[in-house]
Amino acid sequence: MPSAAVSPGILKKYEPVIGLEVHVQLLTASKLFCGCANRFGDDPNTNVCPVCLGLPGALPVLNEKAVEFATLAALALHCEVRERSIFARKNYFYPDLPKGYQISQYEKPLAEHGSIEVPTADGGKKKIGITRLHMEEDAGKSLHEGFSDSATRTYLDLNRCGTPLVEIVSEPDIRTPDEAFEYLTRLKEILLYTGVSDCNMEEGSLRCDANVSVRPRGQEKFGIKVEVKNVNSFKFIRAALEYEIERQVEVIESGGRVTQETRLWNANEGRTYSMRSKEQAHDYRYFPEPDLPPLVVTVEFIAAMRAKLPELPGARRKRMIAEYELSVRDAHTLTASRDFADRFEAAARTARNPRRVANVLLSEIGGRLNALGIGLDQSPVTMAGIVLASNLLDEGTISSKQMKQLFDVCFEKGEDFGVVYEREKPQQITDASAIEKLIDEVIAANPRQVEQYRAGKTTIVGFFVGQVMRASKGQANPALLNELVVRKLQG
Ligand SMILES: [Zn+2]
Repeated sequence: MPSAAVSPGILKKYEPVIGLEVHVQLLTASKLFCGCANRFGDDPNTNVCPVCLGLPGALPVLNEKAVEFATLAALALHCEVRERSIFARKNYFYPDLPKGYQISQYEKPLAEHGSIEVPTADGGKKKIGITRLHMEEDAGKSLHEGFSDSATRTYLDLNRCGTPLVEIVSEPDIRTPDEAFEYLTRLKEILLYTGVSDCNMEEGSLRCDANVSVRPRGQEKFGIKVEVKNVNSFKFIRAALEYEIERQVEVIESGGRVTQETRLWNANEGRTYSMRSKEQAHDYRYFPEPDLPPLVVTVEFIAAMRAKLPELPGARRKRMIAEYELSVRDAHTLTASRDFADRFEAAARTARNPRRVANVLLSEIGGRLNALGIGLDQSPVTMAGIVLASNLLDEGTISSKQMKQLFDVCFEKGEDFGVVYEREKPQQITDASAIEKLIDEVIAANPRQVEQYRAGKTTIVGFFVGQVMRASKGQANPALLNELVVRKLQG
């Protein structure tokens, strides 16, 4: 596969301009304009009726839940929601679109003027504008593979016809493939937090098309843009943009002109192919949908949706970084999904020391899960087990070394922490004189460190504690050990 990243030489001379169009299926029980089930994976052509098949005389009725979800998504993306929006017919012919038009929104979309904040390469932040978010219905699916006569025939599954979608169109604010990747990652995360879609790219619940052009640096006018379609992962979007930027620069450098067209990404070959010349909006002969009245959402409705919004990932990370003293990276790990962040926080709040729960989870459990290549869902140690371990560690009942050993057993035997702890109840040396004896030995063996301590380097206490803990095979009571080491060193 070519192009790990766009070469710096090219980026010095040319500036890419990227805009993204994302289609997201909404998780409603039924379709946008009829009562058919909105469900992936059912037998082909079983969830259909006269409305979604576009039979003559059938009339659409708008699904209120879809309006709720679309409004929630719009508010989560900081959009202004229009109180009165208009459904429009987008006319085109395609076998998987039996009506011959798609009901969409054109001139007056549900929402506009939103934004998503993305991290930049230099550690800063950048706002990517969202031009609009509108509602529309999905088309059916053409099946080109999987049948004995697939070489000569195409089959149609119309179950997807009429599935509610929102289309989210970004401003052409994105300047690098990496920014595009970040934008999509943040967008998906926000949508998942709001619960309006499962954003499953393999099942087509989230689909992305990219518009990309290049212009000489310093030039204000945009170059001629190409639309890249058929990309089914964020990594491929990044790769497709990298390829396309280099291709367009090559065309310009060799004295040619970029053609405005739609290109398909071929993941196996790592390149794009010309599909067709790009349609213009007027090709679709948009006009207001005569079978649907304007969509009116009241101020009260919008306020009710706003009240339903959960704490969104960006804000939640900011708060958790402060509350649990996390690094940005760890905050991302803990907030990867809303469900996980909820479970973590619910557990942490029951613990003696919530910060320690975060720490144990990230360093002990996270490390072991990563090594095994499994997720937290498959962890033998539950959140309750992590809280128990953190409490025992915090009150000094077990040492961190003992905790590590207990976790090792948990992962070896597939048992939760509580079970292992009850069975193995690690021995602790709480006899002060036994610990003092060990301390004396360590002090005698390390005169140079004793000198350093007496010269004022008090942080060296940690060294002595570590040495004695090791000598006790991890069994010295940590609180007592700490206290005795300091007393001995001072004495
Ligand atoms: Zn239907």
